[in-house]
Amino acid sequence: MEVTIRGIGVSPGIAIGPALTFGVQAFDIPKYQVENVDTELARFERAVISVRADIERLYERTAEAVGEEHADIFKAHLMFLEDVTLRDEVERRVVSEALNAEYLVGEWIARYTKLMASVPDARFRERTQDLVDVGNRILARLLNANLESLDHLEHPSVIVAHDLSPSDAAKLDMVNTLGIATDVSGPTSHTAILARAFEIPAVVGLKFVGSHALPGDTIIVDGRTGVVVVRPSAKTRARYEEEKVRSERSRAALQAKELKPSVTLDGHEVPAMANIELPVEISHSLKTKAQGIGLYRTEYLFLNRATLPTEEEQYEAYAEAARAMAPATVTLRTLDLGGDKFVSHLHLANEINPQLGWRAIRFCLERPDIFKAQLRAMFRASVHGNVQIMFPLISGVDELRHVKSILQEVCVDLERRGVPFKRDIPIGSMIEVPSAVEVADLLAKECDFFSIGTNDLIQYSLAVDRVNEKIAHMYEPAHPAVLRMIRRTIKAAKAAGIPCGVCGEMAGDPMFSEVLVGLGISSLSMSAVAIPVVRSQVASIRYSLARRFASRILNMGSVAEVREALHRRYSQRGQLDPYAEGAADANIAGAAGEEEC
Ligand code: PEP
Ligand code: MG
Repeated sequence: MEVTIRGIGVSPGIAIGPALTFGVQAFDIPKYQVENVDTELARFERAVISVRADIERLYERTAEAVGEEHADIFKAHLMFLEDVTLRDEVERRVVSEALNAEYLVGEWIARYTKLMASVPDARFRERTQDLVDVGNRILARLLNANLESLDHLEHPSVIVAHDLSPSDAAKLDMVNTLGIATDVSGPTSHTAILARAFEIPAVVGLKFVGSHALPGDTIIVDGRTGVVVVRPSAKTRARYEEEKVRSERSRAALQAKELKPSVTLDGHEVPAMANIELPVEISHSLKTKAQGIGLYRTEYLFLNRATLPTEEEQYEAYAEAARAMAPATVTLRTLDLGGDKFVSHLHLANEINPQLGWRAIRFCLERPDIFKAQLRAMFRASVHGNVQIMFPLISGVDELRHVKSILQEVCVDLERRGVPFKRDIPIGSMIEVPSAVEVADLLAKECDFFSIGTNDLIQYSLAVDRVNEKIAHMYEPAHPAVLRMIRRTIKAAKAAGIPCGVCGEMAGDPMFSEVLVGLGISSLSMSAVAIPVVRSQVASIRYSLARRFASRILNMGSVAEVREALHRRYSQRGQLDPYAEGAADANIAGAAGEEEC
C-alpha cells in the first residue's frame, strides 16, 4: 500500500526508483547443526577468500576513481579480515559445536556490536566497528545476501537510511544514486549540502522512512516539497513521472540560457562564487562561471581514509584548485572537523554537544602538527594562483591572534627552507559565532576579509542544532536577529575597509539575494548549482532600492513579516522563472520614505 511521509526537502528535484536500504540490513540468520564439520570449515574459508577478493576490488576501483589515499580504508579492512578474533572463534566453534558458520558469525557480530556501544574508548570502538564491517561482509557472503556499499551501487537506486554521515555522503556513487531519504538531519547538514552540490534530490528528517521502505520497493523522493512516497500507486507514480519530466526540462532550459553578469541594474557588482568540498566540484564551478571559490571545505580531504592526508596530497589538491580558477580567487578554509564531521582515525571523542565542542579552529589550535601541515600546503599552493586562507569558528581576537602566530611560524619555516610561496595572501575570519559578531570591529582590524558562515551563525544565535530534524522548523535565516547580525558584521567590515561575503547556504537561496545585496554584502558564495539563479536575481535588482528594502526589513520584528516581505518581493521580480523575458525589468519601486540601509 502507498505510504506518504513528510520531511524536509533539502535538495530539489524528483527521484523515482528502487529503494536501497543502507545500514538497516537485517539478515535472517538460520541456526542448524552441520553434518560435516570439514565441509562447513571449507565453506567458511571460501566466504573469507571471496570477501578478500571483494575488498581488493573495492580498493582498486576506489584508488583509480578518487586516489589511493581514499582507498586506504579498504587496506585496513584487509588487515581486519586477517584478524584472529573472528576467524578463530568461528572455526573453533564449528569444530566443537558443529554449528553452521553464518550463525556463529552472526553471534560474534551481535556480541561485538553490544560491546562497542558500551566501551567509552573511541579508538577501541572504531577498530571494533571495522571488524564488525568485515564480519558483516563475511555474513552476507555466507547467506548469499547482497551487502550494498554506497560507493558502487549495482543499479540506479534511491538511498534510504536512518542517517548518512558526511563520510558516507562523500563516497556516494554519483552516477547511480537517484535520490536520498533519511530519518534524521537538517537542511544545512553536510549530507544535505553535498546532495545539493551533486543535484541529487534529497529529503531528510523523515523519522521512520527506514521502517516503511523495504529493499527494492519503489520510492519517490520529492526534494522540492519534502514528500516521500513509498510503494506509490500507478496514478501517483504517473503524476510524479510527469512532474519530473517538466522540472528537468525547465532546469535544462535554465542552464542553457546565457548567464547574466552578477551586477545589479545600477551597476553594483556582487560576485557569485562557488562553495566546493570535493575536487570534482571545481569543474562544476567553472561550468557555472563562478567568479572564484568563496569556500573550499578542506575537511573532505580527511574523510573516508585510514590515515591523515600528507602535506603533499593537500598541496596538490589546493594547487589544482588555484590553477583551475586563476586569476579568480580560491578561498581555502582550514580544517573544520567535529560538529557533524568526524574522522575515525583522529579519535575525536564522543561529545554530548559536538556542535559546541572540540571542532574547527579549536581542534586545529590543539593539533598544531595537523594545522601547520595544512597551512604549509596552502601557502605552497599560493604560487599557482590567487589563494586566500580563512579560519572557521573564530570566536574572538585571542583566537585569531593565536592562529596568526602559528601562520607566522609556518611562513618563517618555509622561508628558511627556501620554499616558494606568496607571503602576503589575504587572511580571513569566518563570522559564525555570535561573539565574533559582537567583536567584529576588533577582528576586522586584524584580518583582511570576513566571510559570514550563516549555517553556523543561525545555529548558534538561535540555539538551534543545525542537524536536528526535531527543531528544523526553528532554524530560521529570516529571523530578525540573524539579519541584524549580518548587518552589524558588514558595518564593522566596511568601517575597517575590508570585504565581507556570505558563504552559508543562505547565499544560494534566491529569496535572500536582494536583502543580502541591500545589506551591503560584497560577495555571495554558494553551491555551484545555485549560481545561475542567484546571478539572475542580482541582475534583476537595483542596488539603491535593495538598500531601502534591506533597511525596511531590518525594522521588522517578526519572522513572519520578514518572510512575507521577502516572498512578495521575490515573486514581483518575475520569479519562479528567473530567466523569463522581462524578469530583469520587473523592478519594484521603493516604498515612499524608505531609508537606505
Ligand atoms: C557556515 O557555517 O555557514 C559554513 C559555510 O560552514 P559549514 O557549513 O561548513 O559549517
Ligand atoms: Mg560553519
